[in-house]
Amino acid sequence: MTVSLILTKKGRVVATAAPDVTLQEAAKTLAEKRIGALVITHSDGAIAGILSERDVVRAVASKGAAALNDPASGHMTQKVVTTSEDKTIISVLEEMSARRFRHMPVTSGGRLIGILSIGDIVNHRLQEMEAEQAALKDYIAG
Ligand code: AMP
Repeated sequence: MTVSLILTKKGRVVATAAPDVTLQEAAKTLAEKRIGALVITHSDGAIAGILSERDVVRAVASKGAAALNDPASGHMTQKVVTTSEDKTIISVLEEMSARRFRHMPVTSGGRLIGILSIGDIVNHRLQEMEAEQAALKDYIAG
């Protein structure tokens, strides 16, 4: 099972923002879209970083509410780990667990083509398990 399977189901739209959006604006977008991270991109679409809700919390914890006026570029993670759609879902999950983050942008030829959250992977696995269980029940029932 590869990353492309989840992208096909969930879609390939990625929430992005420019490096100069403020943390306040970023937090509003995260809340409105009910997501946990924004990929920060330059105007040419190249990935500049990733800003997760955890980065916003850390910024406010260390600088107080004034941090909300800072640009995302000052608090995002610049070195973004990405994956490609031919990678197995389990290998992506292993990498996310090992590195302790919950978002993995998917790229192709350097372009952003999707994003997986740990929630997407857990949902996918639950659906898989339900399908396996139903198949097993059918088999036993003859
Ligand atoms: P998260 O668990 O995704 O909320 O992120 C925890 C921390 O890891 C934050 O500082 C994020 O900026 C960072 N982070 C999240 N996803 C990635 C990624 N794919 N590559 C590098 N850093 C990441």
